[in-house]
Amino acid sequence: MVLFKKSKPRQEEVLDVGGKARLNSKDFKQALPGIRVISEEDPDYERSRQIQNTRFNYKPFYIVKCQNKDDVVKTIKLCQRENKSVRICSGGHQHEGMCSADNVVVIDLSCMREISVCKDSCTAWIEPGSQLQYVYQELEADDFTLPGGGGDTVNIGGLVQGGGWGMLARAGGLTCDSLQEVKLVTATGKPIRVTQDNQYQDLFWGIKGGGGGNFGVIIQYKFQLMKHQDAQLISISYTSDKDKILITKLLECYLNELPIFDDNITSFARVSHYNAQKQESGLTLTMRFNCFGRDNIIYNKVRDFFEKLSDLKQKAGSHHQLEWENLDTQQEIRDADLLINSSVALPHKVSSAFPKGNITKLSQKIIDFVYKQKNFNKAATYLSIHSLGGKIKKISADSSSFFYRDKEFLLQFQAWWQQPNDEQSGDYINWVRNFRQELDNAGCIEGAFINFPDQTIVEPSGDEKADKIKLLKYYYGDNLDRLREIKAKYDPHNFFSFGMSIPPK
Ligand SMILES: Cc1cc2nc3c(=O)[nH]c(=O)nc-3n(C[C@H](O)[C@H](O)[C@H](O)COP(=O)(O)OP(=O)(O)OC[C@H]3O[C@@H](n4cnc5c(N)ncnc54)[C@H](O)[C@@H]3O)c2cc1C
Repeated sequence: MVLFKKSKPRQEEVLDVGGKARLNSKDFKQALPGIRVISEEDPDYERSRQIQNTRFNYKPFYIVKCQNKDDVVKTIKLCQRENKSVRICSGGHQHEGMCSADNVVVIDLSCMREISVCKDSCTAWIEPGSQLQYVYQELEADDFTLPGGGGDTVNIGGLVQGGGWGMLARAGGLTCDSLQEVKLVTATGKPIRVTQDNQYQDLFWGIKGGGGGNFGVIIQYKFQLMKHQDAQLISISYTSDKDKILITKLLECYLNELPIFDDNITSFARVSHYNAQKQESGLTLTMRFNCFGRDNIIYNKVRDFFEKLSDLKQKAGSHHQLEWENLDTQQEIRDADLLINSSVALPHKVSSAFPKGNITKLSQKIIDFVYKQKNFNKAATYLSIHSLGGKIKKISADSSSFFYRDKEFLLQFQAWWQQPNDEQSGDYINWVRNFRQELDNAGCIEGAFINFPDQTIVEPSGDEKADKIKLLKYYYGDNLDRLREIKAKYDPHNFFSFGMSIPPK
């Protein structure tokens, strides 16, 4: 018999959502006996309606705090019967706020966070409300790990469906690549088990990269686990406003090196006009490396790369310091080397793209933009570059709906600020938009990553339907047609519908 060791569910951490109370809220609550339903008149409504991106201030009618499968089934059936729009929310991190909306019912899974590990089969069942930091802790206690996401506060619920990129991506693949099975409640309220081999194999393919919230409410994920290994963490950085050409060369060298790094090295880089460690302005390139395992050969490969960068610096005659730092904790590697702590709820805007064509040109365009725009006083604006390749590339392209498996890295344009009513908010958002646009105009990028979504990539043409298809093509490429067919099969009436959801074919 296979035994799963269950972790104790954690104290409830409240998620957030909001809205106008409806006249019949008493009836709605009574129709879901034993389930906690929060509406405008409840004291914890304000706290419960807040999502991670405080640029959005949605007020849903109800937030239904589901504890288990039955709660989800009852809520879906009631909303179907009463013709109510729903949104699904696990951790509320969706960058465009699509886990909530005005005047909807939010199916809130943040209380469902059980993690059950089976040592014999090296697998774990994980509920969608589990935050990554606790997932890693629980798994590590049994000497396992999972290629999850970089952000500790992100929840498994949405992360997996968007693919899931983290600091083990090259060693272990995307998060969705470790998925073995899913328990899901369909749009009609039917609980099903979805695997690679059963009658729902098309749905399994769709869930692995097709983006959160399209096909049903996922109540449990089963993952194949990796053996945990200590990692060696390294940061290399360079700041100087005088050395634009040199920094362009350093970035180009990094981007060219990405495909040939050992698979056990996953890294990301940041290009910004601010060095948070030194708290000084200036063109900054930071590269952080996660070397999975304590193998000196792997560590020395990063050392060799550092020497290469040092040679470039030497040749350019620069006297600025190329900084090498051994970091102690994963937290340090994840911490933004910038103004703002993005693990708390803050207003922000992100966008994303994959590289296309010439790396020299891309490097120049990136550095030119960041140098020209400088930084804002009250916002952190930067470009992150996430390494792909390694195992991601080795997994067959048709095993999941993640379309960009052959890419070596992923670009994320980011702007984070403190106050939703900051009068410069529009400028920060434009920084993200203009940056992406400039790279696009130069022919240096293509596509986008659904976990870093931006619903404004496509200029409105007046034909909303056509614009939406055009937008979704960025995220799903040639897989969009198949995803639409799957949507038509499992949710033909488009019950799970939101701004960037996949329309049925
Ligand atoms: C601070 C921060 C750091 C991040 N870091 C990373 C990173 O390192 N790597 C990465 O890949 N992404 C990262 N992301 C993006 C993140 O992975 C996605 O936003 C992800 O969708 C968040 O999942 P969630 O459950 O927390 O969010 P939610 O907003 O609750 O869900 C995201 C989407 O999935 C749907 N959904 C949620 N739960 C379910 C469910 N159980 N069943 C069906 N649909 C569901 C929602 O409707 C929504 O559309 C980060 C985001 C933030 C804000």
